[in-house]
Amino acid sequence: MKRRFGSLFLAAAFVVIYAESAAAKARPDNAPTSTITLSVDATEAPRKLFHARMTMPASPGPMTLVYPKWIPGEHGPTGPIIDLAGLKITAGGKTITWRRDDVDMYAFHFEVPAAAKEIQVALDFLSPTFAGGFTAGASTTAHLAIVTWNQLLLYPEGANVSDVTFKANLSLPAGWKFGTSLPVASQSASKVDFAPVSLERLVDSPVLTGEYFLVIPLAANPPNEIDIAADNNADLAISPELATTLKRIVSEAVSLFGATHYTHYHFLLTLSDHTAHFGLEHHESNDSRVAERSLLDDALRDVSLGVLPHEFVHSWNGKYRRPAGLATPNYQEPMKGELLWVYEGLTQYLGNLLSARSGLWTSPQYRDHLAESAADLDHKPGRLWRPLIDTTIAAQILYGSPAEWNSLRRSVDFYDEGWLIWLDTDTKIRDLTGGAKSLDDFCKRFHGAPSTAPMVKTYVFDDVVATLNEVAPFDWRTFLQTRLNSTDFHAPLGGIERGGWKLAYQATPNGVLKDQEQVRKFTELGFSIGLRLNEDGSIADVIEGLAAAKAGIGPGMKLIAVNGKAYSAEILRDAVKATTDPRQRRIDLLIDNEGHIENHQLSYGEGEKYPVLERDASKQDLLSKIIAPSTWAR
Ligand SMILES: [Zn+2]
Repeated sequence: MKRRFGSLFLAAAFVVIYAESAAAKARPDNAPTSTITLSVDATEAPRKLFHARMTMPASPGPMTLVYPKWIPGEHGPTGPIIDLAGLKITAGGKTITWRRDDVDMYAFHFEVPAAAKEIQVALDFLSPTFAGGFTAGASTTAHLAIVTWNQLLLYPEGANVSDVTFKANLSLPAGWKFGTSLPVASQSASKVDFAPVSLERLVDSPVLTGEYFLVIPLAANPPNEIDIAADNNADLAISPELATTLKRIVSEAVSLFGATHYTHYHFLLTLSDHTAHFGLEHHESNDSRVAERSLLDDALRDVSLGVLPHEFVHSWNGKYRRPAGLATPNYQEPMKGELLWVYEGLTQYLGNLLSARSGLWTSPQYRDHLAESAADLDHKPGRLWRPLIDTTIAAQILYGSPAEWNSLRRSVDFYDEGWLIWLDTDTKIRDLTGGAKSLDDFCKRFHGAPSTAPMVKTYVFDDVVATLNEVAPFDWRTFLQTRLNSTDFHAPLGGIERGGWKLAYQATPNGVLKDQEQVRKFTELGFSIGLRLNEDGSIADVIEGLAAAKAGIGPGMKLIAVNGKAYSAEILRDAVKATTDPRQRRIDLLIDNEGHIENHQLSYGEGEKYPVLERDASKQDLLSKIIAPSTWAR
């Protein structure tokens, strides 16, 4: 839904320039300027309550303020309007009556009284306890908080966010430290005054604050650091090896792109079991939230810390180079996701590449992750109706899609299928040029020199094709469009094969799958009988066409017993394993289907099957070359 208020009065102080390219959005020198002040009180963050007060210029007459809706990097209308409370608008101490728009829940209309030159806006943000979602999910605990500015402000409807200046200050709980890429003007014991910045930069610069806080410098020229807040002081005990690995993520990324587009970068890492877990990219920082023991536990490191190189890559791919459809003039304008297979897909490829090149993952771990993602995509009957390009266009609804029938619906597959397509592209470039060129050369051209301060350079599909052609002439348009529009049952595995490996299945889970099962508490039998189970035996997903689906089993049912024995993951695995014996090719499952107890018989005879990459000795091992470090020796 999109609605403009073109006929309504717009505060004269705000110049609105709509332009295709965000690079062309600079405010003319002679334009009038005015600053909105924003005071955020985060002292009650541990009880999940923020208070904000704003003073902004206004002119008498009708005015509309809006709450940010389309959040950059979340690729959808995820602004948590439901958690906005306490809205009071005043002028000269007198209350102004507001009325929400009847259609656009994010817009508030009111009348600025005669002679008023400015208005005051007060609001509360009710910080959620819900641990899902992105920044709109749980963001505060007893010991830490992430301050996400777009949740704490309103701005004039129709404004271009690069033209509105905000001067923010932040009050923190006593003794809490903080990290942010926002420039600090001054600070006292528990209040920080930030320098005036555009609304665009403010929203792009969250603040991580907490009682237990660690800062590790990662690089100089330009400076780069990781700021870590934890619920427990003991969780900050990072090993020297891991600290060195984090530094290598930076040096390998800078080596890959050959230039930077930030002045001082901050990894903002939250270690908590009580916040949402995800990563959100910003130009000069990232907001990454992982389980509290992720720096200490090997399985958590394997499963969770790949978010750090991924979000760092976005400083180049997503923030600096941004699809035109995602570079909107403000947060009310809908975003178009059709190039997310580049924005997120290439970032997935490069982020995982950096996980391997930095040593965050071993080479076998990289291959195990790749095998797991490739096998998952190769077992999705939803591919038969939904081409990858539709997952990008529908990203705004797919991010919230449930686990059940993921195999038939598909989800935000442009991440992992992007990994496969860009591996396909990288190996193809190496093939075409006899090994002289690679996707690294594409990155240097597309994202690299000259180094700049944060800026946006937009692109369209043709720009991607043109740059690939500069690296290695080929019909890249057809190459990419075939993969984006395919409704073939099988995933694009050409890159793995050209890389000298084959997707195969073995009788034991690979190391990464074991880590994932342990951390995410599920049982993966999708590649054998077509079942994915939660820890309690409830069925998360069923793969259409495989044994469990053929036996009439669906998501939401719960396994009670396997061949007459009470269900456990081990008992089910043993029963699947035993099917390699021709006399045991039937598994009897007792199932609770929402209160109705049912018997289901599976016919199956292939034993346990888990994905693995096997070396194809007839080809050279390009994959190992691709993931080899360039700034240190393994
Ligand atoms: Zn991403």
